[in-house]
Amino acid sequence: MKGKLEPSERQKLIEEGKNLRDGLIMLEEDLLKLSDELQQEAQCIPNMTHPDVPIGEEDRSIVRKMVGCPREFSFPIKDHLQLGKELDLFDFDAAAEVSGSKFYYLKNEAVMLEIGLINWTLSEVMKRGFTPLITPELVRSSVVEKCGFQPRGDNTQVYSVEESDQCLIGTAEIPVGGIHMDSILVESMLPLKYVAFSHCFRTEAGAAGAATRGLYRVHQFSKVEMFILCQPEESESHHEELIKIEEELFSSTIDMASGDLGAPAYRKFDVEAWMPGLGRYGEISSASNCTDYQSRRLGIRYRPSEPTSTNPKMVKGKFTPTRFVHTLNATACAVPRMMICLLENYQQEDGSVIIPEPLRPFMGGLGLIAPK
Ligand code: AMP
Repeated sequence: MKGKLEPSERQKLIEEGKNLRDGLIMLEEDLLKLSDELQQEAQCIPNMTHPDVPIGEEDRSIVRKMVGCPREFSFPIKDHLQLGKELDLFDFDAAAEVSGSKFYYLKNEAVMLEIGLINWTLSEVMKRGFTPLITPELVRSSVVEKCGFQPRGDNTQVYSVEESDQCLIGTAEIPVGGIHMDSILVESMLPLKYVAFSHCFRTEAGAAGAATRGLYRVHQFSKVEMFILCQPEESESHHEELIKIEEELFSSTIDMASGDLGAPAYRKFDVEAWMPGLGRYGEISSASNCTDYQSRRLGIRYRPSEPTSTNPKMVKGKFTPTRFVHTLNATACAVPRMMICLLENYQQEDGSVIIPEPLRPFMGGLGLIAPK
C-alpha cells in the first residue's frame, strides 16, 4: 500500500489498534490473576511419598526401633505442671493475662534448663560438623509458601503480621531453607549442614482434642533444628544420619504414615519419648526428607562437577546442567517437650528433680532442682 490512507480508513485502523491494546491489557490482567491462582493451587500439591512409607493416617505408622523402657516409679508421680508449680518453674496464669492461653513464663531453674538444653544441643550437633545459625523469626510469606507451609487460610498454623507480607516462623526450617534461595551452589560445597536456633510460633489451629496440657502444645517455643542441603543421590543416607543423631541425643523412632507427613516431606521419622504424666510416649522430634520439593520452589540448584548417570549427556570439562539439591530437616531439641520428659522422668520422691549429668556443665553445674 503506497501513499496516505483515506482519513476514514486511518481512523478505523487507529480504533482497531486501541481495541487490541485494551484487549491485551485485559488479557494480561487475566493472565496475572490466573497465574497467581495456578501458583496457589500448585503450592497445595504435596511432595511424592517414599515407596516404603506406610499409607494411611497416623495409626498406620510403624515403630522402627525402641530404646530402653519406661522408668517404674515406687511413689505416686507428678506431671510437669504439678512439679513446675511446686518448684516455682512456670507461670501460665500471668502469661494467659499478658499474651493469651498456651503461653508461659519460665522461671528460676527452668530458665537455666532451657538455655542449658539449647547450648548442649548446639554443641553436640556442631561436634558433628554442622554450622550454627540464629535465624530471623519474621520472614516473607512467599518464603513460607515455598517451603511448603500455608501462610493463609482457615487452618493455617502460621501467624501472619497484619499490613505486611511477613509471617512469624513455625520452625527454623523456613529461614534456613531460604538462606540459599535463588542460587546455584557448586558441588564441592555440598552437603551443607546447618544447626539453627530459633523461637517457633504456631497457631495450633485444629489441634483441639490433641494433648494440650501445660508445655505439650504451646503457641511459642524454642527449638534447635538441623538442616541439610545435599546432592539428590545422598539424601536418603543423610536422612539416616539425621535420625542417628536424634537417636544419639534422645531415643525410640517411628516411621510416620503418609497422612502425617505434611506437604513437603517425602519421608518422615518421628522420635518419641516416655512422658510419665501422659502415661504414654509423646513425639519429641521429627526428621523429614523433603527431596527437591523445597529446592524447586526456592530455586536452590547446584552445578555438578562430574557427569552423572541422570545427566548422561554431560561431558567432563564442558558445560554441565544444574540440578536441584535435596533438603532435609530434623529437630535436634524442641525445648518444651524435652523439659516435660526431663522433669517427669527425673523426679524424686521428695519432689526434687535430678539434672542429667551431660546437661550440668551447661547449667552452671546445677545438679538438682529442689523445692525452695
Ligand atoms: P515439627 O516441626 O512439627 O515436626 O515439630 C518438631 C517438634 O517440635 C515436635 O516433635 C515437638 O517436639 C515440637 N513441637 C511442635 N509443635 C509444638 C507445640 N505447639 N508446642 C510445643 N512443642 C511443639
